[in-house]
Amino acid sequence: MTRVFNFCAGPAALPTPVLEKASAEMLDWQGKGLSVMEMSHRSPEYVSIAQKAEQDLRDLMSIPDNYKVLFMQGGATAQFAMIPMNLLRGKATADYINTGQWSAKAIKEAKRYCDVNVVASAEDKNFTYAPAQQDLKLNPEAAYVHYTPNETIGGVEFDYVPDTGDVPLVADFSSSILSEHIDVTKFALIYAGAQKNIGPAGLCIVIVREDLLGDVLVGTPTAMNYQVAADNGSMYNTPATYSWYLAGLVFQWLKDQGGVDAIRKVNERKAKKLYEFIDLNAFYSNPVAINNRSKMNVPFVLKDDALDKIFLAEAEKAGLLNLAGHRSVGGMRASIYNSVPEEAVDALIAFMADFAEKNM
Ligand code: PMP
Repeated sequence: MTRVFNFCAGPAALPTPVLEKASAEMLDWQGKGLSVMEMSHRSPEYVSIAQKAEQDLRDLMSIPDNYKVLFMQGGATAQFAMIPMNLLRGKATADYINTGQWSAKAIKEAKRYCDVNVVASAEDKNFTYAPAQQDLKLNPEAAYVHYTPNETIGGVEFDYVPDTGDVPLVADFSSSILSEHIDVTKFALIYAGAQKNIGPAGLCIVIVREDLLGDVLVGTPTAMNYQVAADNGSMYNTPATYSWYLAGLVFQWLKDQGGVDAIRKVNERKAKKLYEFIDLNAFYSNPVAINNRSKMNVPFVLKDDALDKIFLAEAEKAGLLNLAGHRSVGGMRASIYNSVPEEAVDALIAFMADFAEKNM
């Protein structure tokens, strides 16, 4: 059996030891004679799996007790609607920072429920930077401020957490959760689709301060009400049980690696060497402002886009998969999440150096 190096933006690579454990437990979970997929979500076995996953996530992120951790469905996209439904709390406007395609989708969806005030946009420079704190035209009366700390497509990350005063701060951490320390206390709500740094698709983690719960927009579906999810331990209806279990294995793996701070150091090394290589080699380039370059998603273009297809085909032959940029922007993108080992980045750089030399 061979495993390739997978640079997919999501669903992304999972740690091999996690898949090995899931495989070993597939038919018979811990001597119970059945797969986790076949368990009742109400059984003591499954409840222990679910609770351990939550506790491990709380430990990894130092989540304070006054925050609920919800294991929801519908991906991060469903959160684009659930956030206004749950957090407008009688208000009619919300502030959004626009740094690229995912912020734009969140804005479009929120507009169905409230007046959206775009407090800063990076559109003037084709979404290649994150606006500075002093450029945010915040409205103190807004229900909340929403931003995307890491734009997965553009490869743009904030190098600071916006200060929004008393207005609740909401962040879409889909592509950077668990890659470095997040001070949860600075946020009213953090959400992340699972299929990058957490586990398989089908699950979306929501971490929300409990005092914000309970005042939902009229007509909010029950399955989209955070209070209902919180009151029922995310089991008002059947949750994505297997994805939740797999997420738990990933959290345990991350603890075994030494936790978030240990993985951050590896992530920083991986990103630094890849950007350094891109900057030094005239064959490749990345347009993002240096201090906003994402440590998780590294987009780059070749000197001549006529070579894109050959680059991708040869990369695949070399065991380097899913390097095509998002279908909307083209070019290349290497997503180097927690589970992508440093050797994968080394192999990518060696391949890129070789390809550039041959095609310069
Ligand atoms: N936000 C960000 C930052 C993302 O990267 C993605 C998915 N790539 C989404 C939202 C949408 O997530 P989902 O497909 O889980 O709805």
